[in-house]
Amino acid sequence: MQTLPFLIDNTWTTGSGQPFASINPADGSVLATVAGASAADVDAAVAAARQAFAAPAWRDLKPHERASLLYRMSDLMTQQQEALAVLQMQDNGKTLSECRAQVASAASTFRYYAAACETFESPVTPSRGAYWTVTLYEPIGVVAAITPWNSPVTLEAQKLAPILAAGNTVVLKPSDVTPMMGLAYARLALEAGFPPGVVNVITGGAETGRQLIEHPGIAMVSFTGGTATGRLIAKTCGAALKPVALELGGKSPNIVFADADLKKAIAGTAEGIFSGAGQSCIAGSRIFVQQAIYDRFLEGLRQYAEGYRMGAPDQADTRMGPLASFKHRDHVHRYVEVGRSEGAQVLTGGFIPTDPALSQGAYYPATILAGVSNASRVCQEEIFGPVAVVLPFADESDLIAQANDSDFGLASGIWTSDFSRAWRVARALETGTVWINTYKQLSITTPFGGVKDSGIGAEKGLQGMRVYMHSKGLYWGLS
Ligand code: NAD
Repeated sequence: MQTLPFLIDNTWTTGSGQPFASINPADGSVLATVAGASAADVDAAVAAARQAFAAPAWRDLKPHERASLLYRMSDLMTQQQEALAVLQMQDNGKTLSECRAQVASAASTFRYYAAACETFESPVTPSRGAYWTVTLYEPIGVVAAITPWNSPVTLEAQKLAPILAAGNTVVLKPSDVTPMMGLAYARLALEAGFPPGVVNVITGGAETGRQLIEHPGIAMVSFTGGTATGRLIAKTCGAALKPVALELGGKSPNIVFADADLKKAIAGTAEGIFSGAGQSCIAGSRIFVQQAIYDRFLEGLRQYAEGYRMGAPDQADTRMGPLASFKHRDHVHRYVEVGRSEGAQVLTGGFIPTDPALSQGAYYPATILAGVSNASRVCQEEIFGPVAVVLPFADESDLIAQANDSDFGLASGIWTSDFSRAWRVARALETGTVWINTYKQLSITTPFGGVKDSGIGAEKGLQGMRVYMHSKGLYWGLS
């Protein structure tokens, strides 16, 4: 099998690091052998991006010219939607329908930041003296973008589009579990016509990521991934006084009050945890249910979970494909065993399938745990799989205390028919996003980020572009 190269300075290269395999988690087959970047390759990618940042071919592009490259990325993605969706499905195991939706969403992310780029204005700020002042927003330089494996096509678009719209150059390092979309973005950037060195994509694991963020030529780091890795990266960036944006893990509470529309709440909370096989930072993995409806809700959720069909990701009736890797499937199962040892009842799921149709892949069923307290490990640690823990609560104050008793603060959901209560609880929850009578709705126009151990900064929206710029105050004397 030919080794897939990565892209530095608009040139494909297999570099000098150790190649690695990208595995299709649906059947364990090798999808591709991918080149691994060495320290010398990291140096070369950063040098190319630095040179491109200073070169007139990129620096002197007018905003609408820069925008036209981003529009072109969006158009290419729309034209190639099916091929890109199949590629992500094979690399990550998500269902084809989810992959199609994610490619469409990623294409619209490029369109949104193209529009933001060409309409961006620098304000004239009020002044009192014999001068006027303008605040200029300027690109920071070479941004290192590091991404996880759970939704490569959207998460990489959320970094590449605003980084480039703001006028920076970029070195992207996708996860070594799912390198294929990052390499697809390299190909699309070449096809769209970005000047050499503006978009560089190198492939490799944690060591390549570490070398990249520690590189003195990197002006800013934008990271999405686990909280432990985020903490290490923050430490390195802190020591170097390098700006850093961190989108990290979550353990989101999804809350059902007794006055909620029960059918909608069951479907909403089930989709909140089981869609994407729970491999989502915003998965509603702690489901809090008011005591009066606890038993009825639990029975409804169990039935919903048992109807959540696991199967090959390209089949139309599949609701849940395999997890992204065998290693991760085993990690999820270990957490269910931790739950059992903590006294949890496993109401459904909780096993590695032995059915021959599924045992070749990294499948894991929709799983519900109950009977443990919010202090248990399965409630406090991110499992990142299709595992819901259901907990009862008495009243609003008990709920808020339990929901906020978490190191994480990414997202939350509230199901109620009482408008005032929804407002009160939403204000009290310590999370970056709150959904009311809906869940996992996301819009490119609305900033998204976590509080507490879920991250620093926000992606999406105009704020998601501003984060890749610094301001320069310009004072013009008039006397
Ligand atoms: P991870 O932290 O293990 O890896 C993420 C990326 O960092 C990979 O590309 C990896 O190679 C790289 N990396 C690892 N160690 C590094 C180091 N020391 N220096 C530099 N780079 C390093 O995370 P993962 O397992 O790939 O992804 C799952 C995690 O991502 C979950 O915790 C999930 O909640 C989180 N996530 C967060 C968001 C969000 O928007 N908040 C979105 C998606 C996923």
